[in-house]
Amino acid sequence: MKTILLNPGPVTLSDRVRGALLGPDLCHREPEFSDLQARIREKLLAVYDLGGEHWAAVLLTGSGTAAVEAMIASCVPAEGALVVAENGVYGERMSAIAAAHRIPVERVAAPWGAEIELSEIERVLAREERVSHLAIVQHETTTGRLNRLEPVAALAARYGVRLLLDGVSSFGAEEIRFEEWRLDACAATANKCLHGVPGTAFVLVRRDACARAPEPPRSVYLNLAEYLAKQDALGTPFTQSVQTFYALEEALSEFLDAGGVSARRALFRERMARIRRVLEASGVRPLLGAGETSCVLHAFELPEGNSYRALHDALKRQGFIIYAGQGALSERVFRVSAMGDIDDAALDRLEACLQAALPPGGKAVRR
Ligand SMILES: *Cc1c(COP(=O)(O)O)cnc(C)c1O
Repeated sequence: MKTILLNPGPVTLSDRVRGALLGPDLCHREPEFSDLQARIREKLLAVYDLGGEHWAAVLLTGSGTAAVEAMIASCVPAEGALVVAENGVYGERMSAIAAAHRIPVERVAAPWGAEIELSEIERVLAREERVSHLAIVQHETTTGRLNRLEPVAALAARYGVRLLLDGVSSFGAEEIRFEEWRLDACAATANKCLHGVPGTAFVLVRRDACARAPEPPRSVYLNLAEYLAKQDALGTPFTQSVQTFYALEEALSEFLDAGGVSARRALFRERMARIRRVLEASGVRPLLGAGETSCVLHAFELPEGNSYRALHDALKRQGFIIYAGQGALSERVFRVSAMGDIDDAALDRLEACLQAALPPGGKAVRR
């Protein structure tokens, strides 16, 4: 039985992507690698129809956080400052990254799951003249909330501040208006909505944003400007994870063949709606309204008397991996994601397993 991962990445691989991992041994200084890297970079731009004149995809070997850290450390100029809008673990992580690099940072924090108050962002932007960038998570995976970027982007634009987006759990599925929202960069990873393998992350960056990178750089390994220059010259500053590159190229081909962002969004929406319906019928309450959440993941309140561990283990015995809540939500909430190669038969089985584990009327699955 194939394990179905319903955690927010890594995802269940398609046979096509798994098969790509077995590509030939390849030195990262050979032209075959340069070609592979160049094709992936082009395909990543194609996901949101970005032109290579103003935009570039920069490929990194690491998890999603490597891309977020490279973006923040490289895009905020030496004389700049960062506002971070936080309403979950990943927003908080961006503030921690900024602090680690001694970047002046102003945090605008909302409770986890709540909407970030525009007026609070504005108060900071009005007060702090040095602010050059605003960092925000599009899909805050902690709770499933999809942060509404349009008003935030409009506000930032009024203050001449550019956006740095953590799109790690939304890139490839949610709408991202790179130009209209005045993004300087968006960080993401291979192994979430794109259905690739963990090990490759990337930043889509405006070329002129990289040109303002601090000198000397804040990081040697996570220096986007250096990666960009080398990758434009068909090279790489460091050894890349060649096999996961193979897998990412295949995942991107599969993604573009299937109809790209709107097709993937529709697929995830359909899956999430189905899971949500089954759980609601069992009396399980979603943490957020359907209109507030991403298409990628929804969080649910664990019904009274149920333990997460028991629910997790019951589903795991049937081949499904769900995900715990983080921090203070770990006892109260569980999360289910719709990403990955999941066929209809597996969804049917999941439905039956959820109903059995959480019967209507709430017979508790006890520890
Ligand atoms: C998964 C995720 C990350 C990165 O996590 P890694 O474990 O480093 O891959 C960053 N931001 C968000 C919103 C995420 O969901």
